[in-house]
Amino acid sequence: MLRLAALLSALVLAACSSPAPASRRPVAAATIPPLADLVAGVAGPGWDVRTLIPAGTSPHVFEPTPREVRLVAPARLVATVGAGYDAWAAKLAAACASQARLFDAGRAAGIEAAEGGEAHDGHEHGDLGHDPHWWLSPVLAAKVLPSLAAEFSALDPDGAAGYRERAAALAAGLRRLDAELEKTLRPVAGSPIVTAHAAWGYFADRYGLRPAASIEPAPGREPSPREIRDLVLVARREGLRTLFTEPQFPEDAARVVAKEAGLRIATVDPIGGPPGRATYDELLRFNARAFRDGLGIR
Ligand SMILES: [Zn+2]
Repeated sequence: MLRLAALLSALVLAACSSPAPASRRPVAAATIPPLADLVAGVAGPGWDVRTLIPAGTSPHVFEPTPREVRLVAPARLVATVGAGYDAWAAKLAAACASQARLFDAGRAAGIEAAEGGEAHDGHEHGDLGHDPHWWLSPVLAAKVLPSLAAEFSALDPDGAAGYRERAAALAAGLRRLDAELEKTLRPVAGSPIVTAHAAWGYFADRYGLRPAASIEPAPGREPSPREIRDLVLVARREGLRTLFTEPQFPEDAARVVAKEAGLRIATVDPIGGPPGRATYDELLRFNARAFRDGLGIR
């Protein structure tokens, strides 16, 4: 309870006890838009699937507010990215939606939090086993779907065949998307990338990009002057032309590095939400094109 209280403000805990607005359909919740889209795809039209994280926010440094309490309170299923990425959601659900089943999608994808909990404090790109950004690989996302169908079937056994069929169709769509992204990025395969934070390990691994550095040494911590100097050196050594910022992180440090090293700035988005990046497929396509265009033909 102490740990929970440390994570959830008194305001949020107070909001837990206020009655939730009724929803005609059963409610499921997911922390980020691409996960919510996968959940909605398996759930089908019979469910009201809600996204917990507000637009433009990084789940790494997010603290729930009464808004998320209202969204999650009636949920029968709460899906998290897992691996320490959005641990606040499991705690929020335990406090405010105690009837809900918790679904750790990262575990279903084969990703576990590193020893000691929080994922990616450091920036070791070799350590893909604990990197929580599994959804940026459609291959890993597809691994989640059978378990997700099983979760819905446990809640609604009569609908089991439908959940299974939708999950299988979605997995086939993800395989097609994967082939498409591979084709989009083939012209820039092998290129080094520098992004706002270390979100792109699985994506880079799948499509032949090479993460060379991240602007934020840890999510929510801006680089020191020395780290900015190092980024400029990396940019020169790697012959970079573009820095990739993300809408959830401030751009100040990126602008300093870009000016110093003569780089362009382009946006990639690990989380999505806005029009054009709302669905899983749109988000992945947006990123593949942004990397391809930003890297240019080398
Ligand atoms: Zn991240």
